[in-house]
Amino acid sequence: MKETTVVGAGIVGIVTAIYLQREGHRVTVVDRQAPGEGTSFGNAGSVAPASIIPVAMPGTLKQVPKWLSDPLGPLSLSWRQLPFMLPWFLHFQRACDVDRVRRGAAILRSLNAPAVEAYADLLGAAGAPELLRREGMLHVYKTEAGFKASAFGRKLRTDNGCVVELVDADRIRELAPGLSSGYRWGFNLPDNAHVHSPLRVVQVLAELFKRNGGTIIRANVTDIECDTGGCVKLHTDGMSLSAECVVIAAGYASGKLAAKLGTRVPLAPERGYHIEIPGAVPAQHCPVTDGESRFVATPMAGGLRIAGTSEFQAADAAPNWARAETLATLAEKMFPGLQSVNYSRWMGVRPSTPDSTPVIGRSSRHPQVVFAFGHGHWGLMAAPVTGQLVTDLVAERAPRIDVSPFRPERFSFY
Ligand SMILES: Cc1cc2nc3c(=O)[nH]c(=O)nc-3n(C[C@H](O)[C@H](O)[C@H](O)COP(=O)(O)OP(=O)(O)OC[C@H]3O[C@@H](n4cnc5c(N)ncnc54)[C@H](O)[C@@H]3O)c2cc1C
Repeated sequence: MKETTVVGAGIVGIVTAIYLQREGHRVTVVDRQAPGEGTSFGNAGSVAPASIIPVAMPGTLKQVPKWLSDPLGPLSLSWRQLPFMLPWFLHFQRACDVDRVRRGAAILRSLNAPAVEAYADLLGAAGAPELLRREGMLHVYKTEAGFKASAFGRKLRTDNGCVVELVDADRIRELAPGLSSGYRWGFNLPDNAHVHSPLRVVQVLAELFKRNGGTIIRANVTDIECDTGGCVKLHTDGMSLSAECVVIAAGYASGKLAAKLGTRVPLAPERGYHIEIPGAVPAQHCPVTDGESRFVATPMAGGLRIAGTSEFQAADAAPNWARAETLATLAEKMFPGLQSVNYSRWMGVRPSTPDSTPVIGRSSRHPQVVFAFGHGHWGLMAAPVTGQLVTDLVAERAPRIDVSPFRPERFSFY
């Protein structure tokens, strides 16, 4: 049993810490913020076994000019960031290859398929099973062309064993009565689930971790050192911490920490936004994705959350709230009669790899350090399998699934 420290109290770090603790390790979590205050605070809440479509798809690059020129479009890019992000975009271009996409979907399926049962277990143990809702996820389209363009994605899903139910306009209205009648095509993913408050999920799991003897320390990790005796030292603003094993699960900031250990991973700050409209859950039960405008509307404990957009901008640049206002406009078009007033706004940084696959594996130079980051659009749903794989790596036993697709060194020309 090892003295193990996890850097990061987001969903990935906390779930990993719980699984390590269940195996008998002595676990400490270090974070500069309170648990769940990073990107895990504001996601769309999807815990989706059928959410397996990589961002890089065969047709994606062709759509970029259209998306960038549309003020309500899902993509924005700071041209000043382009030189820094060029290697990332080159990897992204390579990831659009159809065979890589097929492999990528199978990899995401292996990460996401067990998510719903894993959260039922974790949230049950935390005494908050009601946070998990098994209500499916509806994908809707206003144009037949948009729906037809989703055919390859639907095939990837069915090829990987996901249940996909096609729905017509009547069925859409049945499943989500408040939706605009403009949506006439779509499909339902009945096995998907969502959580009613992503922040609360991290908080109750952090409480469970502490109740079972875990320690959470509030500190900013500034440096990491590995000595020849196999000990890892974390330097923080106020103190140094030693451990036999360290897990780096610090979201987007993990890239810098990994680089200190000689592992360079192309990680983009893919910023996303949400608005949450209090008391505005229309007559709609399951989360709904607009497949053309690319945003999700999820009923949450605090109201209707509209989440989406991909903004390639420096992680620490001020939020561009015009992106959030765009979501308010889209919400009003999705739900006629909805008044998007008094809403809260939020921006978070997705830790995104170009191949939509996280980095889960040992540092090649310092095997007592395990990386668990780069979950992009999938961090909530992929956290349980990530945590289980980390426990396999820490225990030095054969991982339960093939971890080679996640290896940190896979980006050869970076
Ligand atoms: C708009 C939007 C919608 C999304 N929707 C979904 C969804 O529906 N389903 C889904 O599965 N995923 C979704 N995601 C993605 C998901 O939110 C992320 O993948 C996930 O939150 C990443 O979790 P994490 O634990 O890796 O990172 P974080 O939650 O960012 O946690 C990392 C933690 O590390 C800490 N940290 C960083 N550096 C240091 C340091 N040097 N010292 C100490 N602590 C440090 C931070 O303070 C932070 O608390 C969405 C993302 C966005 C932006």
